[in-house]
Amino acid sequence: MKQPALKANERELIKLIRFFSKRAERLMEEGALSPEHTQLTNACENLETQLITHATNRDAILDKRERLQNIIEDNAQCPKCSKADMLKRTGSTITERGWKCNTYKCRRCNITFTWNRPNNPWHMVEFLEAYIQELQQAMAVEQNQEVVEQTEDAIVHMNDSLSRLRPVLEMSDEEVDALETKEREMDKLIHQFKNYLLIEKIKLDTYPEESEEN
Ligand SMILES: [Zn+2]
Repeated sequence: MKQPALKANERELIKLIRFFSKRAERLMEEGALSPEHTQLTNACENLETQLITHATNRDAILDKRERLQNIIEDNAQCPKCSKADMLKRTGSTITERGWKCNTYKCRRCNITFTWNRPNNPWHMVEFLEAYIQELQQAMAVEQNQEVVEQTEDAIVHMNDSLSRLRPVLEMSDEEVDALETKEREMDKLIHQFKNYLLIEKIKLDTYPEESEEN
């Protein structure tokens, strides 16, 4: 199984746990493993398993989130030459409506521009909602029946996409919220257990003979 990415406090704790499990192995070989040592080793193993499970879960959630963030394909075109072949993405910017959009440079026309659609699904939902509203307002005064029908068709399609997109985004938001809560719990647990192990280690360093022999 692929090792999950670990945060600094998690790596630190695992290093400490390794120290104690090596010591437990040595004591076992010497036949000196007391119930107290066994208990400590078990607690270490449990926490390590919990920590790896949490880190693996975190990797999966963040990976999914990143893929979701990148599902929008711009299909951007240069506003001057209307082509896409010489475009280079230069970054992103927040528009005055609060949407994050990609910025491009057309190397043919030597201009930079901001693409007129958001680069992520969360802002895309807001964009589509606003766009649908504008269309509906325009259709209220539109005389051409054909245009009205075509636009209403387009609106149905957009609403369809929106109703599929919204629950996916909601689920991801909930997942990330739950992850953050779990993250705080784990940080607290790691902090407490690390302090406990550090104290145990100091005891060993201070009274090596006594600790090894009891
Ligand atoms: Zn151009």
